[in-house]
Amino acid sequence: MVIGAHPDDAEFNAGGLMQKWVNAGHQLMILCLTDGSAGHHQHSPQSLRTIRRREASAAANLLNAKLNIWDIADGTLEATLELRHELITQIRQYAPDLIVTHRPADYHPDHRATAQLVQDASYLLQVPSIVPKHAPLKTLPPVLLAWDRFTYPRPFKCDWVLDISDVVEQVVGLLACHTSQVYEWLAHTQKIEVPKHNRSQWLSQWYRQRPARIARDFAAHHIDYAEAYEVSEYGGKFDAAQLALPD
Ligand SMILES: [Zn+2]
Repeated sequence: MVIGAHPDDAEFNAGGLMQKWVNAGHQLMILCLTDGSAGHHQHSPQSLRTIRRREASAAANLLNAKLNIWDIADGTLEATLELRHELITQIRQYAPDLIVTHRPADYHPDHRATAQLVQDASYLLQVPSIVPKHAPLKTLPPVLLAWDRFTYPRPFKCDWVLDISDVVEQVVGLLACHTSQVYEWLAHTQKIEVPKHNRSQWLSQWYRQRPARIARDFAAHHIDYAEAYEVSEYGGKFDAAQLALPD
């Protein structure tokens, strides 16, 4: 279960893990805690909401993943008790073997609130008197926090590196579903000139910088493209071998 704040965070943060996960025959749920309606310089929030739901569905379909987007406006997420209980409910209903989310140190308040909500829910997933309508989990799933570049209040701590070289082009395919983001909004905010032709080739080169940097910084032996994860101390015990992912 990959829990992100916006309808492209799962693909950016954990696209390689998600692809390898489904390639191994496992089931996947992508949960977005906001509707992504603020991420554009031209579309109104109302129309962007619809566009991003469609884009996220296309990416989820490629992964054969379940998708759930909460009806909360982008940029307004807060780690409230009500949302903590809703998150506990949905995690218990899906009962994942693994949860992936943001780190609590991150530039975007929605990312921080998402991380906070997952962190606050983690231990309580096993406590019967919290949200008693839904049975507590018998086993606490491990919680992985995806790499980011932020250092305040503390930098990312690398606990697990995943070689995604064999699926990197499939991740590009997932990201390409998020047209309003990768070709429009990010280009606008990062002042990047996206070529009119061969956009997907440009996207591939642009995206590869991130997993290449992670591989350079964290992989013990030479690999081209990687994702890196920190294991949350509040989740269950993590053993990468138990994920049964193909090499
Ligand atoms: Zn985001």
